[in-house]
Amino acid sequence: MRLKIQDIQAREVLDSRGFPTIEAELLLKTDKDQEYLGRAIVPSGASTGEGEALELRDGDKKRYLGKGVLLAVQNVREKIKPNLIGKNFTTQFELDSYLKNLDGTENKSKLGANAILSVSLAYARAEASSKKLPLYSHLASLFGAKGNILPVPLMNILNGGRHADNGLAVQEFMIVPCGFQKFSEALRAGTEVFHNLKKILQENKLSTGLGDEGGFAPAFQGDKPHEQVLQILSLAIEKSGYRLGTDIFLALDAAASEFCADLPGKYRFEGKTLSYQEMTAIYQTWMQKYSIISIEDGLSEHDWEGWGYLTKELGSKCQLVGDDLFVTNSVYLKKGIEQNITNAILIKLNQIGTIKETFDTMKLALQAGYKNVISHRSGETEDTFIADLAVGTGASQIKTGSASRTDRIAKYNQLLRIEEQLGSQAIFLGRKAFEKV
Ligand code: PGA
Ligand code: ZN
Repeated sequence: MRLKIQDIQAREVLDSRGFPTIEAELLLKTDKDQEYLGRAIVPSGASTGEGEALELRDGDKKRYLGKGVLLAVQNVREKIKPNLIGKNFTTQFELDSYLKNLDGTENKSKLGANAILSVSLAYARAEASSKKLPLYSHLASLFGAKGNILPVPLMNILNGGRHADNGLAVQEFMIVPCGFQKFSEALRAGTEVFHNLKKILQENKLSTGLGDEGGFAPAFQGDKPHEQVLQILSLAIEKSGYRLGTDIFLALDAAASEFCADLPGKYRFEGKTLSYQEMTAIYQTWMQKYSIISIEDGLSEHDWEGWGYLTKELGSKCQLVGDDLFVTNSVYLKKGIEQNITNAILIKLNQIGTIKETFDTMKLALQAGYKNVISHRSGETEDTFIADLAVGTGASQIKTGSASRTDRIAKYNQLLRIEEQLGSQAIFLGRKAFEKV
């Protein structure tokens, strides 16, 4: 069946923080005049890695504090659309390569990674619909996976760093319900812990206001606030009737590029300036005391020497995830693999800008025995693409926020639908999702 691009629309919509982002619609037409529409919205980060592809914003301070995306919308309408109309691409990968070349820059700064990704994602949805396939099945056939693994959710129920204003250096405290048979049971357990955490915070007269990813964001007094958080999370797990380190583990995204000091390899942490060795020692203590199964961006994206040390010390006992460090870019990941740095990578479509390049990075990770962790951004929308991406690529782990705010819940709900659709074919790896293969 030949599919021709019939039309493309783009518009400015809002994300979960109330900032503009781009939505695109792409219409495919068959030889027999059947039409298939795909629509997608691009998310946006706050603690962005320096190597991320360019998110094009207008900078016009009179609109949305300079954060408008009318230039990106215009690029879709006036630069991408005229080049694509009437074209027939044999695969998603061909379209994505075409878009990449049309931009022609290293970091997609000509057209904007947000403009390019909106079209790449909308095309995938339209093509899935033309094949009468659910998106995850279509993505699975593109990726070469079975498309039947439901991911373990890494639920960020307590927010700090750039996603809150509570003074915590560490950005995300996640619970990882992996001692369960099914995704839906894991989600239920995680959600129960979230509710019990709220009660504990209330009992302790701590704020239950929410951060950007739907986790609580209280300000802790005292000189060791991070340990207080870890203790309170352990208590919430226990109060919910689950065992820390068996049913539910903890995970962190330190997003340490945000709290590194001016000197290389140094960090501003709980009022002190610490070396990467000292940060590593802190993580090690926490890992042992609080069953931490995964640490993301434990050190800064520029501290490759520190990363080598961290991986050597902790890599055999803990999943170490590179987010700002690799920015979903195969060039950085390759360097990491060569230097034995981390053992997992965070995958965010908009860090690189097309589905093809995202898949290339994920395949490279798999070849090297690295885990892929699919991730939302702190600025999200109702678009649930990443839920299908996680199942379609068999990634087996997803980070998509807390058990509140519809921008986060929408992804969990989509995973519940997929689990139901897959029925007895659905696989939930649980703890195995973290084991070396
Ligand atoms: P961001 O945060 O979307 O603000 O970058 C998410 C993360 O760091 O994982
Ligand atoms: Zn991160």
